[in-house]
Amino acid sequence: MTATRARLVSFDGTESFDSELWTPVDQSALAACLGAAGPAIPRGAGLSYCNASAGDGVRTVASSAFSTIGDVDEECRTIVVGSGVTLGALLESIVPRGWYLPVMPGHPSITIGGCAGFNVHGKSPADLGCFIEWIEALDLFHPDHGEIRCSRGENPELFKLTVGGFGLTGFITRITLRLRPLAGTAIRVRRTFVPDLVAAIDVMEERRAGSNTVYSWNDLNRRGSGFGAGIVYSENIVPGKEWHDRPYNVLTPQGRPWPGKGFYPRFAGRLMCALYLRLERMKATDKIIDLKRGAFPINGKEIYFRLFGRTGLREYQMIIPRTRWAETVPILRRLLHDSGLPVTLGSLKLFDGAVEYLHFCASGVCLALDVPARSASRPLFGQLDDLVADAGGIANLSKDSRIGADAVRRMFPGYDGFRTDLLAFDPNRRFDSALRRRLDV
Ligand SMILES: Cc1cc2nc3c(=O)[nH]c(=O)nc-3n(C[C@H](O)[C@H](O)[C@H](O)COP(=O)(O)OP(=O)(O)OC[C@H]3O[C@@H](n4cnc5c(N)ncnc54)[C@H](O)[C@@H]3O)c2cc1C
Repeated sequence: MTATRARLVSFDGTESFDSELWTPVDQSALAACLGAAGPAIPRGAGLSYCNASAGDGVRTVASSAFSTIGDVDEECRTIVVGSGVTLGALLESIVPRGWYLPVMPGHPSITIGGCAGFNVHGKSPADLGCFIEWIEALDLFHPDHGEIRCSRGENPELFKLTVGGFGLTGFITRITLRLRPLAGTAIRVRRTFVPDLVAAIDVMEERRAGSNTVYSWNDLNRRGSGFGAGIVYSENIVPGKEWHDRPYNVLTPQGRPWPGKGFYPRFAGRLMCALYLRLERMKATDKIIDLKRGAFPINGKEIYFRLFGRTGLREYQMIIPRTRWAETVPILRRLLHDSGLPVTLGSLKLFDGAVEYLHFCASGVCLALDVPARSASRPLFGQLDDLVADAGGIANLSKDSRIGADAVRRMFPGYDGFRTDLLAFDPNRRFDSALRRRLDV
């Protein structure tokens, strides 16, 4: 087992800790590491926007050695993988054998353990659910409880507390995932131009039935009625292209920024969005791309994150009940405009599901937006907290390194239940992180 000191920075670049970083190589080294005095926290790729796998005085325990990928069980349609396996490595292994994992977040460097830790979503959560739907079982290690197998049939309460439990119930060593047979290795992308954020949702709902995935890109820098004009992408997996050998890019929080301050000036949002829309208009409405590229559209475009520089970025991702969407949009437009910040990303997804504990899952419209981390971004995000809570919505805690306990308590009916159940399972608070302290759970 190796232990080093490392400066662990949140992916958004706004918070860092000088931490002890342990890399246990097997189960017995893991037991020794987690059994030592003081709190610990598991870490995947560290690609959460907040410090969910680090904290002041907390031992960070890397999952990178838990990287075994088993054989696909074709009858059960499952595979057993180590929690440190990245999504990219998993796809390299299963796609040539004709299998696919339908729910994957945006970058191939993200680990399976990290996906479980935040119960992440992919491009079409309304139809495919969140990551928990694709977990059959998991093996958890906690120094006071030993090894525990959890699934919907075995220790179901702990299963529910662990998936989306921010690594606070213990270290997941292995996960059994459900897979789908692959219909092809190409993606047909259909693009529809929309005039605003409300029309975008109407088109997405219409397209949902005939597509594997539906999402959008929107320009949130426009004023007036064109606020949120953009493109709805509806995609289907089809036969056609080769799965090629070109490796995926590696993204790390330390490697994200270019040296120095951020690049995006005040006019950057308007300029970038206008340029992007113009380029998209020049392309054909339908196109076929290979699955490797289509699975992770951000792969190869990491420069977007680099240009935020060392000062970093802030992302807000919210789910607003469908019935409150139309009245939320004008308030959002005013808040963004008054902040004077460039909005470098705006994107919509549709969600369907019940709010459990602190999971980012509910029924409604999901909007993600990025701004550079500047003095104006914190007050703006505070106003967005109020907007979301008043509309009966929720915020994505994996994307946010500043939201406080009060706002989270207002948004999530399961806040008290999560806190109580976590303390009942781990009364000695063996697991801790900057996220846990900020949320006061
Ligand atoms: C470019 C980019 C795109 C993204 N796109 C999406 C998206 O589309 N949808 C979405 O939902 N999210 C998205 N995210 C967020 C990301 O999926 C989550 O933050 C995810 O948890 C990161 O996983 P990680 O491997 O980096 O884990 P970390 O950030 O290191 O850890 C995340 C959490 O999981 C816990 N954890 C990690 N490993 C284990 C383990 N072995 N046992 C127990 N707990 C563990 C940690 O303690 C921590 O609480 C994106 C992030 C980036 C940078």
